[in-house]
Amino acid sequence: MCGIVGYIGKRKAYPILIKGLKRLEYRGYDSAGVALISDNQQLNVYKTKGKVSELENFVTQKDISGTIGIAHTRWATHGEPCSANAHPHYSSSEKLALIHNGIIENYAVLKEKLQAKGYIFKSSTDTEVLVQLIEYMKVTNQVSLLAAVQLALGEVIGAYAIAVLDKEHPDEIIAARKSSPLVVGIGEDEFFLASDATPIVEYTDKVVYLEDG
Ligand code: GLU
Repeated sequence: MCGIVGYIGKRKAYPILIKGLKRLEYRGYDSAGVALISDNQQLNVYKTKGKVSELENFVTQKDISGTIGIAHTRWATHGEPCSANAHPHYSSSEKLALIHNGIIENYAVLKEKLQAKGYIFKSSTDTEVLVQLIEYMKVTNQVSLLAAVQLALGEVIGAYAIAVLDKEHPDEIIAARKSSPLVVGIGEDEFFLASDATPIVEYTDKVVYLEDG
């Protein structure tokens, strides 16, 4: 199990994301991370091995601005617990960042194909394959992030709840799930995303449990 939290709206995302990760700590994890699109349009990823409190220490002095972000607590299945393997993972261009709960069973085959096309991997996770494949689909087919995610997930065998940020589209988080839980909270001009409703209920009672797909 791991934890996913996302926020898009008018408030500062970082405090909501950290509070949400703490609410999901009961699920167990070995590392934690956050991705934010900052007020000056940078896609910042911060991640560490260890507790959410260690992530908070790590981001001291860093730019944690932004009203859109995703955050993750990892329970390692592929690759040791370390900061390189912690989520979020950047795509090669560092324009996309992705968090994932679950297991990509055919990651090795997909990774080999992407490496043959020149993609460089920085972690030993199954997850990094997803973000690279999404970028590959987006660039080669010249499609939106949503379409690229749909194309990439069509190639994937496994279980996932994912959330993706695109630096060039600071007005959207693309999320999907199959066999791993994901919940959307609908506020006033704001949306929340989480593995269960506990990070969301203090902000809104409009909670949608996404169906498997
Ligand atoms: N399989 C992924 C990894 O090992 C995600 C694990 C999780 O659900 O936290 O990085």
